[in-house]
Amino acid sequence: MIDLREIFSGVQTIRQVDAAVDMRDYEVCGVHPIREPVQVHGQITNSAGVVTLDLTVQLLYEAPCDRCAQPVSRSYSFSFSHVLVTATESDEYDYIVVENALLDLDALVRVDVILNLPSKFLCKDDCKGICPGCGKLLNEEACVCKKEIDPRLEKLKDFYH
Ligand SMILES: [Zn+2]
Ligand SMILES: [Zn+2]
Repeated sequence: MIDLREIFSGVQTIRQVDAAVDMRDYEVCGVHPIREPVQVHGQITNSAGVVTLDLTVQLLYEAPCDRCAQPVSRSYSFSFSHVLVTATESDEYDYIVVENALLDLDALVRVDVILNLPSKFLCKDDCKGICPGCGKLLNEEACVCKKEIDPRLEKLKDFYH
């Protein structure tokens, strides 16, 4: 928890944020992809009564590719900006309500990170995956399944010969 009373009251107008957030318990399909602490850097500022949180987070994401199941690790960096308020002063949904001026930074970072992670995690955009027939990794090897020839194509083949 970060005590922001001095920021909200204006006694302090800027406060640096440096933190490491543990997301080892975050799980996707039985895998815990974030094993290293998420590095958080940024600042909270009070500018003419508007309290803004600006953060950059960096993390290492390690999980199997969704298509070929090969292990992949990738670094991500996301930036977030939120306006902080101490009470629901507005219906604006993008305000973060900080009760008693105590900010739960870990919870906020977790939500921001999860919302920004790609819904598909691939080793490369054009990953060819695994052949369901022969189990070959199609990025590395050719499929060795016997190709079923569509009878309509068979006719065309005769036509072209
Ligand atoms: Zn892949
Ligand atoms: Zn195959």
